[in-house]
Amino acid sequence: MRVLIVEDDLDIATNLYEFLESRGNTVDMARDGVSGMHLATSGDFDAIVLDLGLPGMDGLRLCQKLRREARQDVPVLILTARDVLDDKLAAFDCGADDYLVKPFALREVEARLKALVLRRRGRVIDRKLVSGAIEFDTASLAVAVDGRPVHLSRKCLRLLEMMMTEPNRVYARTELEQALWGDEHPQSDSLRSHMHMLRRALTDARGHSPIETVHGVGYRFASVDVGQA
Ligand code: CA
Repeated sequence: MRVLIVEDDLDIATNLYEFLESRGNTVDMARDGVSGMHLATSGDFDAIVLDLGLPGMDGLRLCQKLRREARQDVPVLILTARDVLDDKLAAFDCGADDYLVKPFALREVEARLKALVLRRRGRVIDRKLVSGAIEFDTASLAVAVDGRPVHLSRKCLRLLEMMMTEPNRVYARTELEQALWGDEHPQSDSLRSHMHMLRRALTDARGHSPIETVHGVGYRFASVDVGQA
């Protein structure tokens, strides 16, 4: 998972950071609300761990802005010393997904984050992404159409996994390029050619591809498998 920690207490932030990273997650950290908001909207995170009492902008305001202004639906786990019911209700009101009171067990934070991320992926069954006839086993990276294996390059697998994770969401070209190549700038037509290979593989297997071009923006994986008989 790619996790963002927004926490001003250095000990707590460091503990969480080191624990989550040691478990194979990619972790980023912000120590105040404004840089937390900046990272949350510009970064590419699977989940956010958010403290409430923060300098700059408090966690409630950050969460609310993230949902209402930035229109980001990344899962947010509130991690706070505030254990009063009204605080919890206010957090859920601002768009938080889960709430954990300090002190906490590191393993519980990770377990809750995992649960949130899997839930967000929607149709995850035994770590499988399923849409119509297409199945993607995210553990083994095996893709099958109508039960028959489809062989894809690593980059095509990554594209398909991203888009199947949130069907119908429009992925901007820059977002997909960032996921595939990070900060190395790919050649201008690299994404297009990988998308072409992916579509061709799905079309060969199924007769059509659910991947749609959204002109001027990017691509989406249409969950309604309209072309299927
Ligand atoms: Ca704090």
